[in-house]
Amino acid sequence: MQQPLLLIWKACVDENLCVGCGKCTEVCWAGAIRVLDKKAVIDVNRCICCTICMRTCPRGAIRMIPYSFQTLQREDVIKAQLKEIGAQLGEMERSIGKL
Ligand code: SF4
Ligand code: SF4
Repeated sequence: MQQPLLLIWKACVDENLCVGCGKCTEVCWAGAIRVLDKKAVIDVNRCICCTICMRTCPRGAIRMIPYSFQTLQREDVIKAQLKEIGAQLGEMERSIGKL
């Protein structure tokens, strides 16, 4: 039987509109936004869809979009995989340091 789809709304940045001013990072009390390479990036695991950033952005670059529960699960899997890769790289660095 197919699982019911659970939708969770999260902030999303339109990179074509974002100018990297950082105003959204100042108002996000959840610490869910960073500016990287002059573009705002949302951590969807922290965002609780309060919409303050969307209402603050002078460029109208942020909107709320629905994520499926499965999508969030996949991001968790990706994060776990990146953590594993980081651990392996650390191990390689230590091995090289011993040479
Ligand atoms: S407030 Fe808007 S334009 Fe400024 S960094 Fe955030 S998303 Fe980009
Ligand atoms: S919706 Fe609220 S919690 Fe989510 S990124 Fe914007 S300010 Fe932060």
